[in-house]
Amino acid sequence: MSDAHFARVALIGIGLVGSSLAHVLRRDKLAGEIVACARRPETLAAAERLGLADHVTHDPAVAATGADLVVISTPLSAYAEIARRIGPALKPGAIVTDVGSVKNAAIRDVAPSLPAGVHFVPGHPVAGTEHSGPEAGFAEMFHDRWCILTPLPDGDAGALDKMTRLWQSAGMKVVTMDAAHHDMVLAITSHLPHLIAYTIVGTATDLEDTLKSEVIKFSAGGFRDFTRIAASDPVMWRDVFLNNREAVLEMLQRFTEDLTALQRAIRWGEGEKLEDLFTRTRAIRRSIIEAKQA
Ligand code: NAP
Repeated sequence: MSDAHFARVALIGIGLVGSSLAHVLRRDKLAGEIVACARRPETLAAAERLGLADHVTHDPAVAATGADLVVISTPLSAYAEIARRIGPALKPGAIVTDVGSVKNAAIRDVAPSLPAGVHFVPGHPVAGTEHSGPEAGFAEMFHDRWCILTPLPDGDAGALDKMTRLWQSAGMKVVTMDAAHHDMVLAITSHLPHLIAYTIVGTATDLEDTLKSEVIKFSAGGFRDFTRIAASDPVMWRDVFLNNREAVLEMLQRFTEDLTALQRAIRWGEGEKLEDLFTRTRAIRRSIIEAKQA
């Protein structure tokens, strides 16, 4: 039996990430049984119909009872209440993990409610699409992507090892880092780009009706790529910004300064400055392609 095998897995939240993990668990036979938990009956019905779980429940405590692994895959704002509900139901030795996009907040909201003897391994599979819900998941989503685990200083080494193996089975490259460092890195690589996309699409939406139809018509000029990012789940992204406030504000400050510098270069016709920057950014794109993260 694989080292990444769990007798009973509880997936709390069975949307894009939770259902993608369920597909991996099914494909690689990594779970004896899977129980899925969500609030809405239609979500649970979809999870059953798609064969993502053996049992479904709207009660996180029921899902967590007897589980060897509990994976929290809901928006961040639900974490504290879920942790409070599952805390008393967890069995000694169980592993609790999550997939949330902000790690300091995940630790703040989950760790205090977990009893001694339960191992918490905060995690973030850096993989996704702009779609959400149980229908959106697919096993290959994790393939060749990075998974960042942010273990607690006194965390259990065996539990960390088991989670590493699980994400490796999903095809991910696993690294560990400090939660605060994770939040800073993701603020610039993920959170700020989403904020910029939301802003540009919002600005275009606010324009006069005629201009709006032209925006859609000629969107292939670059706007289209922003609309894909700006179509991401509103609740998830609201929670990311509210929970990674300091890091996002810090990156936004730097970004604003750089934007002002560009504005100045355009105003004063400093073509060389513009060309220099665009040449450097083109090289970044090439290295992302070479690293197979395009
Ligand atoms: P999603 O597709 O919207 O799914 C969220 C799931 O959580 C749904 O099944 C939802 O079902 C359930 N849910 C919401 N509130 C709940 C609650 N209080 N109790 C139980 N279930 C609840 O979201 P996702 O994209 O999978 O994102 C989930 C987490 O993964 C987020 O924390 C996000 O930061 C992180 N993440 C996302 C991506 C991405 O690209 N999307 C990538 C990496 C990590 P009901 O509405 O029926 O309750």
